[in-house]
Amino acid sequence: MPGIAHPLASVRAKWAAFVGWLPRGSRLDEATWRSRHTVLSWVTAAHIPLLALVGLVRGVEPFAHILGELTIVAGLLLAARLTSIRAVKAMITAVALVSCAALLVHFTGGLIESHFHFFVVTPLVSLYRDWRPLSAGLLYVIVHHGLFGVLSPEDVYNHPAAIANPILWAVIHGGYVLMLTAVLLAYWGFSERTEGALMREERLRRIAEEQRHAAETQRLEHLVHSKDQFIASVSHELRTPLTAVVGFAELLANEEAGLTAEDRSDLVTTIVREASDLSAIVEDLLVAARSELGTIRVTAAPVDVNATVDLVVRALPTGHRSRISVKSGPSTWALGDPARLRQIVRNLVSNAIRYGGPNIEVELDHDQVTTTVRVIDDGPGIPDADRDRIFLPYEVTGEATTLPASVGLGLTVSRDLAERMGGSLTYDHSVGRSVFEVRLPRIGSHLVTAAALDA
Ligand code: ADP
Repeated sequence: MPGIAHPLASVRAKWAAFVGWLPRGSRLDEATWRSRHTVLSWVTAAHIPLLALVGLVRGVEPFAHILGELTIVAGLLLAARLTSIRAVKAMITAVALVSCAALLVHFTGGLIESHFHFFVVTPLVSLYRDWRPLSAGLLYVIVHHGLFGVLSPEDVYNHPAAIANPILWAVIHGGYVLMLTAVLLAYWGFSERTEGALMREERLRRIAEEQRHAAETQRLEHLVHSKDQFIASVSHELRTPLTAVVGFAELLANEEAGLTAEDRSDLVTTIVREASDLSAIVEDLLVAARSELGTIRVTAAPVDVNATVDLVVRALPTGHRSRISVKSGPSTWALGDPARLRQIVRNLVSNAIRYGGPNIEVELDHDQVTTTVRVIDDGPGIPDADRDRIFLPYEVTGEATTLPASVGLGLTVSRDLAERMGGSLTYDHSVGRSVFEVRLPRIGSHLVTAAALDA
């Protein structure tokens, strides 16, 4: 009936909880089980001569009793050797070992102290950590005490109270062995749980280790792949301007080409532009490689930022130069490496020319501690999703993927250099303008003079 619990349900639940609490047994790995089995077999075998001695000393009849009964123990040990089934081997050995305890009681004429031997062999059997041999040993004790105690009490007990009431004494003795077994089971169960937890922990640790290893392998594979891609793209990017330089130089050298002075001047301009593209790429490559090897050196000297910007802009072809307006204050100085700052500004300005809008501004600014160079253009800017990526090596976005001389190193190298000079390089896009901002430690003009005098 729904809503009313079955009367047996709680009993069943308690039984299930009890069974769940019991140790599972048979969990020893093969090597451990084998070594324990060897020990138990030898311990049992060692009982045979000792029991024979005890029997002879106690005057037990040597043939039918001593020899006959010990032969049964030896036969059991042999039978255990003949089977290959682990549980059967263990059960037979358990019965042989418990038999030794029973024979000790028997050979000593039920001497009360010899009963203690059951308390030694029972824990030994529990070394198998298996219910089957434990149950076989326990059953043996109960049958031995119950059956022989009643049939031949003088062989099992040596005091009158027990001989007069063998069933009660069988229950007392059996009860103690049962209690010992319960204690062993509890111990067994606790250690099984602890081992289980340790094994689970070890398994989790191994899984985490494997995952870490797989991620590292993937990272290395990705790195090798991007290096391959990088080499392919660098070769391509270097070849494009080189082909132009070689081709135009050959054309210039050809007397029969019929070039006018204007054509020649255009060709020279193009050659200069392509060669300076080449030189910029090679310079970025060198910085990136040295930075990776840890051999890059950046000096800290007073740099005239106005003059640096001027130098970069003046080196541009006239067509590009006309798109750029420079906004600067009187004299702006920073502490850094003049050649490296030139490289940064050149990268930012050439990026603005390639990817930015038609109008480009280079703005110079400073406060008490920082000198700032901003390269601003009114182009579409960099999509939000790519703003972190563009500073990573070999990352290009948008139309740059199809443009010549686009290796994806300019911004990486520029940020690296700015940071090595104690500054920073950031990107922002607001009110329709892309702003790349380089910040460097400022040095006041009075200190510049002092530094120049020191030099
Ligand atoms: P490269 O110029 O060799 O492609 P960079 O590291 O200099 O490498 O630039 C990375 C990417 O950032 C470029 O491919 C381009 O997509 C983007 N980028 C750089 N500057 C600008 C800019 N001013 N406007 C829009 N996109 C830019």
